[in-house]
Amino acid sequence: MSFVIDDVLVRNDPVGPRLPVLFDSPHSGRIYPDDFRVICPHPLLRQAEDTHVEELFATAPDHGATLLCALFPRTCIDVNRAVDDIDPAMIDGDLPLRLRPTPRSTLGMGLIRAMLRPGVPLYDGKLPASVVADRIDRYYRPYHAQMQMALDGLAERFGAVWHVNCHSMPSSLRPDGRDPLAVDFVIGDRDGTTSEPGFVRLVAETLRGLGHRVAINDPYKGVELLARYGEPARGRHSIQLEINRRLYMNEETLERHDGFARLKGDIDTLIRRIADYAGQRVLHRAAE
Ligand SMILES: [Zn+2]
Repeated sequence: MSFVIDDVLVRNDPVGPRLPVLFDSPHSGRIYPDDFRVICPHPLLRQAEDTHVEELFATAPDHGATLLCALFPRTCIDVNRAVDDIDPAMIDGDLPLRLRPTPRSTLGMGLIRAMLRPGVPLYDGKLPASVVADRIDRYYRPYHAQMQMALDGLAERFGAVWHVNCHSMPSSLRPDGRDPLAVDFVIGDRDGTTSEPGFVRLVAETLRGLGHRVAINDPYKGVELLARYGEPARGRHSIQLEINRRLYMNEETLERHDGFARLKGDIDTLIRRIADYAGQRVLHRAAE
């Protein structure tokens, strides 16, 4: 069963018995709003998407998990940023909230992205505050409302929930400008604060067992979606998973290559292990 909020998100509910596992893909959306006017060429714009990530995790509902996928593009508004992470210099007018820009905004990578990448601006001037407010209301708030509802529902029913925030990363661009990524996956738990360690270990060991190179919290630790929803003391475990795009696609054309099928099989194995893990942990809790 799928639940859709037009142009915002699709939530795929479990096919069989439900488990307290949620996957979300916040950056794979590609429905570009008609009024989203940018100066950067469309093919370049699309390189910012986490292309095909929703498809890599598409079997999650077959294993009892819920899968939530954004439909709007992350360049329009980024749900993985705090709502007030906005550079006031890019806005014309006042927003009905107090802005607290982080260094991400200063780099043009805040809630509303100003730069596609360093040196490639998205707009030729400031954005009207009304445009930003509209994107927050149309996309940001409904996405987070669905995340909150899904996690609360599972946590209330099972006493705990395990969440994987799914992304892909370019193979050649490290945020710190160092060498290209030499890993296939990066797991983030904001330095051990958003999940029990056993969940991180399970994901790392499963992927390593499938022959992948895995890093933890380096260089990606997780941002707003983990900070907001990961609360291990309350049984809410959130991790971020970044997949190296070169494993499954041509990063210029965005087309899948021969590696896609194998990777999708590996992700299916990972989802099954996570489902088993969550199922056992819930049984264990019930027996305590
Ligand atoms: Zn992403």
